[in-house]
Amino acid sequence: MKDILLGTETWSFLPEVLLRCFISFIVVLLALRLTGKKGVRQLTVFELVIILTLGSAAGDMGFYSDVGILPAVLTIISIIIFYRAITYLLLKSDKIEKLIEGEPVIIIKNGRYTEEVVKNENISFDEFFMELRLAGIEHLGQVKYAILEVNGGVSVFKRSKNDIKPGLHILPDKVKKCYTTQYPRDGLYACVCCGYTESKLQGPVDTCNSCGKVKWSEASDAGWI
Ligand SMILES: [Zn+2]
Repeated sequence: MKDILLGTETWSFLPEVLLRCFISFIVVLLALRLTGKKGVRQLTVFELVIILTLGSAAGDMGFYSDVGILPAVLTIISIIIFYRAITYLLLKSDKIEKLIEGEPVIIIKNGRYTEEVVKNENISFDEFFMELRLAGIEHLGQVKYAILEVNGGVSVFKRSKNDIKPGLHILPDKVKKCYTTQYPRDGLYACVCCGYTESKLQGPVDTCNSCGKVKWSEASDAGWI
């Protein structure tokens, strides 16, 4: 039982943990200030790696009695120096920036998925649709461009009122329903794989004219409220 609670430490180590945590908290706080970042609402993958590495060094300093304060603080200072150096290189070179931070990807162009997206199976559409809904989008026909940014955010450029075309519904209850055998009623349907949208009559489904897949979902031509 003692091992579960204390590991190889003794009770007298606990006050030291408090002191170690206080020091690591102050050091990490100062380190984060030194990164020059104003907020952390959206992090790029590179920034996330820095934060995780900082956290790991700070945690070890907090509760490992055999980890000295100075090596841990030096680790944290080194991470911040690397961060600043790489940030400087990112500003200087587009190639390094693409390598480390990735590139923004255009996901939707004129109400349809771009070719790049139709081929790429690594994009999480649940999350992407959530971002579109947060931007007030009901169906893809309302979107001129949607761009997945390197920090995971989505930039949305909406179509003007007179330019809205029918498109794939992205409200949660519509997204879940896919038709692969029958269209349940006459109406607008969109291909789930590419966003191609057409009016269909009730009956057996057909293959998508644009991508050749057979998976349809409800579409909408709703305008702006
Ligand atoms: Zn299609």
